[in-house]
Amino acid sequence: WWSNVQMGPPDVILGITEAYKKDAHPNKVNLGVGAYRDDEGKPYVLPSVRKAEEILHKKALNHEYAPIAGEATYTDAVAKLAFGEDSPVIKEKTNCTVQTLSGTGALRLGLEFITKHYSKNKEVWLPTPTWGNHPQICNMLNLPHKKYRYFDPKTNGFDLQGALEDISKIPEGSIILLHACAHNPTGVDPRPGDWEQLSKVIKDKKLFPFFDMAYQGFATGNVDNDAFAVRHFVKEGHQVMLAQSFAKNMGLYGERAGALTFLCGDAQSAAKVMSQVKIMVRTMYSNPPLYGSRLVQEILTTPELKKQWLADVKQMADRIISMRTQLRAGIEGAGNPHPWNHITDQIGMFCFTGLKPEQVERLTKEFHIYLTKDGRISVAGISSKNVNYVAEAIHKVTA
Ligand code: PMP
Repeated sequence: WWSNVQMGPPDVILGITEAYKKDAHPNKVNLGVGAYRDDEGKPYVLPSVRKAEEILHKKALNHEYAPIAGEATYTDAVAKLAFGEDSPVIKEKTNCTVQTLSGTGALRLGLEFITKHYSKNKEVWLPTPTWGNHPQICNMLNLPHKKYRYFDPKTNGFDLQGALEDISKIPEGSIILLHACAHNPTGVDPRPGDWEQLSKVIKDKKLFPFFDMAYQGFATGNVDNDAFAVRHFVKEGHQVMLAQSFAKNMGLYGERAGALTFLCGDAQSAAKVMSQVKIMVRTMYSNPPLYGSRLVQEILTTPELKKQWLADVKQMADRIISMRTQLRAGIEGAGNPHPWNHITDQIGMFCFTGLKPEQVERLTKEFHIYLTKDGRISVAGISSKNVNYVAEAIHKVTA
């Protein structure tokens, strides 16, 4: 039956981890993987998550099916986290929020819903560059995708003028995808003033903003600061769509806890959208998994646990910020002639170093440091033990 099937390309990021595992060198470093590591280079279970696990264990819950859209306690709690406790969205119940299979599942469900129910221009505009799975999901759904300028290779920063210029030419009614914070792969975010300008042009052009928020809390260490863009757009009257993930900010990568929200303007439209989303979910995976969402729910709805979690997120963000400072200092301290301010200017888990493909290749071949060809490093893979080694290696391949 399957003799016609062609071999597909391996996933780029997972391929790097495979190569890293095979390398026997004692100083090897994996800067490819987008998962947080502690200062020992180990996977990290947040103390707040450990406590939530104990609470759940004691509750000895059953394993009945979850509702199609997930438990309402969960979806209410995650919507509050994104839009703010006092948001009119929450008070007037104009949102339709469903639990999804983490952030990827939210993007997939949202874009799939667009293919079926969106009546305007079904064209998705993505920042350049963007997370590789964005165009892939569009391709899988036969949704055309195009690019708007975002990253400026000259400054290793945000290209505000380029973005505004490109966005102002996007056909009315198109969908524009925005990374809410901690842009992957560049670590470059618009500043609040930039977001205000983006919101204005997106409104003038009557575009439909779809926010991907996979790193709330990871950029600045504060979940409210990191929700600035989403909340500003909502304040300005945009009816956004929002994909949320708890993979990174709760370290629940494999538990697949996420959410998709449609802002619908009024409670009646929200109910109609919900009815159609449920039909879509029912035919894909019937209903979502429970364990991860129960942990998230426990944390977000228990005040002491939430306080602990906010401290845990801040601690992860702070470790990353401190590694950025040390990495930059190491490269500059070695007398490297190039500017490295972007290492500390960029935020979130990733740094777009500006390294050229041949320099990346040397890092891997000569120094056993693994990263993607575009020069993206996961700062979470750097620790106080390897930061000097990595800095020295980057200095040597770029000096
Ligand atoms: N969006 C972006 C930009 C991401 O970087 C990620 C994680 N790599 C996701 C969405 C979704 O991740 P997950 O499905 O694990 O929540």
